[in-house]
Amino acid sequence: MTETYRCWAEVDLQALRENLEQIRTSAGAGRKVLTVVKADAYGHGLRQIAAVLMQSGTDIFGVANLAEARAIRSVGAGWPILMLSACLPHEKSLAVREGIMPTISSLDEARAFSREALAQGTTVHLHLKVDTGMGRLGFSPENLETALPFIRALPGVAVSGLYTHYSSAEDDAVFTQTQQEIFAQTVSRCCHSNTPIPYIHAANSAGLLLDSSAIENTVRAGLLVYGIVPPGSRPLETDVYHRFRPALSWKCRVTFVKDVPPGTPVSYGHTYTTPTAMRLATISAGYGDGYLRAASNRASVLIGGERCRVLGRVTMDQMIVNASTVGDARPGDEVTLIGTQGSQTITATELACWCDTIPWEILTNITYRVPRTYRGGHAA
Ligand SMILES: *Cc1c(COP(=O)(O)O)cnc(C)c1O
Repeated sequence: MTETYRCWAEVDLQALRENLEQIRTSAGAGRKVLTVVKADAYGHGLRQIAAVLMQSGTDIFGVANLAEARAIRSVGAGWPILMLSACLPHEKSLAVREGIMPTISSLDEARAFSREALAQGTTVHLHLKVDTGMGRLGFSPENLETALPFIRALPGVAVSGLYTHYSSAEDDAVFTQTQQEIFAQTVSRCCHSNTPIPYIHAANSAGLLLDSSAIENTVRAGLLVYGIVPPGSRPLETDVYHRFRPALSWKCRVTFVKDVPPGTPVSYGHTYTTPTAMRLATISAGYGDGYLRAASNRASVLIGGERCRVLGRVTMDQMIVNASTVGDARPGDEVTLIGTQGSQTITATELACWCDTIPWEILTNITYRVPRTYRGGHAA
């Protein structure tokens, strides 16, 4: 089927299953795994990924909005879903109706959810977030302690989770340690054996690999689910890179090949001029597919198992690469933007480096125009 595609992504579902197993191993026995599937499952296609993760026994899903939560519900009813962002005022009613667990950062939000749950004759399961240094959502630790008895007393409300989020787990061991300690103190002050909180969580992917702590009973993994080890300055055990396998490859095709003399200017603005005679290949991907324009003159792609530099500016639908080292590049040939060809591999992290960004942005930036195809077993 991919023969007809100009630019597409291939997702290996078996890699996803194995990555989830590895996350379980890293998390340790008895810990629950929350898989983060926001932003169309990091660009991999939410429904398919949710189906595979359900089959492989994820314990809970993390989403960024209610549309994502409903997409998961449409794949399989009843799975616990945590909304990681704050619900907007007009979304509270729907969140309660759909049985989504909201993230709460204030007593006012808890009261609003209580009123909504009462109106619907149901119970809403809240996760209370504590801001230990991310500065985004969450109660301050002091405010949480003060508010908790009031929240517990609200009708229609159950406290199902207590969590925090690390700002720099992949880079800063000292600051992460501080966040971890603040969270541990908050947990010990807020959790009493007569009122246990089912989900206690802090670790994202980097935290899971570097900072697992005894008080958490749940981990929140995003990037690792998709097989990418979060890049950062903190050293990781080298076997980590062998344990996780990227699920997504991104491909396009050679559309045109030509030999040019030295001094040939290439693409918009002539930011590149060939220093020697070269064979150029025009390929069928551009920033309209989500291949960042920042990759201009910096990135490489794979054709015929060879690395080919991107020459000049990336345009909306096409770009030009140096195919001089490829034996006989021809229109229709497969080009790998992310993934492996022969002995060569380009990772999302490598492409992110060329673009001065992070693999999270590379993946979530792949646009709607790029069909996602799946192998490694049927899912949704
Ligand atoms: C996105 C997100 C995660 C997942 O982070 P990764 O680094 O991709 O593992 C975890 N927790 C929260 C609150 C998030 O927003």
